[in-house]
Amino acid sequence: MSESSTYQSLRGHLAYLRLGAAAEALPGELEHATKSKLGHTAFLERLLEIEVRATEARRRTSLERFASLPAPWRLEDFDFDAQPSIDRSLVAELATLRFLEDATNVLFIGPPGVGKTMLAVGLARASLDAGYRTYYTTAADLAARCHRAALEGRWATTMRFYAGPRLLIIDEVGYLPLASEAAAALFQVITQRYLKSSTVLTTNLGIASWGQIFDDPTVAVAMLDRLLHRSVVFNIDGDSYRMRAHRARSEALRKGVVATPIT
Ligand code: ADP
Ligand code: MG
Repeated sequence: MSESSTYQSLRGHLAYLRLGAAAEALPGELEHATKSKLGHTAFLERLLEIEVRATEARRRTSLERFASLPAPWRLEDFDFDAQPSIDRSLVAELATLRFLEDATNVLFIGPPGVGKTMLAVGLARASLDAGYRTYYTTAADLAARCHRAALEGRWATTMRFYAGPRLLIIDEVGYLPLASEAAAALFQVITQRYLKSSTVLTTNLGIASWGQIFDDPTVAVAMLDRLLHRSVVFNIDGDSYRMRAHRARSEALRKGVVATPIT
């Protein structure tokens, strides 16, 4: 085979194997190999590394898109001084993601504005950065999706969807009361993930009030049982961060006015 037909055949192999990045880099890499007198092994290693990097980048992009995180928050950006009720060493331990290994759940309980979503999203971000399949949803979206699935005969597929991610975030449980169908969906999602993969859940309702979210208090008890069996619970009290910022601004304004009286 002539050199040029070998080259064409190699391009053909790369295309057939869908190694697009390697195919694209081939002419440049061949030239580099000749110039730098690279051996076969070194040439092949460089070419395949290009393909591995491209595949990895595609995987990251697709994981990122799938995760549907609502904000770019990171745990490093959380201001622990503003929220002394949160054990920062416990958050640091969670950030190592060891909790994913034994399917530990994490509950953030507290009033609006104290950073529950930020912490949940920060954990999701850490999990994504480590390459784990991660998915964020609100309880209301989960309920709506399951409702549609039930109508369209896709219940089993949808349940498998929620079983899939290594880490599932269910935000805002308890903000709206859940109809019995929605409660059943949430219950099934929690049950099928139980002891298999971690769920992070945020709620404004203390555990004692969970009966209020569900028509059926036995569902609430059974769900809590599974959630709490292996779990880390943060009870966050204190001021809303938004209100704090707002108050600090008004205070600064007021002081400004006092310091420069208009007379
Ligand atoms: P929650 O989910 O508890 O209602 P969020 O996590 O949505 O509260 O926080 C409300 C807003 O305040 C967000 O913009 C969040 O980034 C910010 N925030 C809350 N707590 C903190 C904190 N300790 N450090 C930095 N930003 C915070
Ligand atoms: Mg929130």
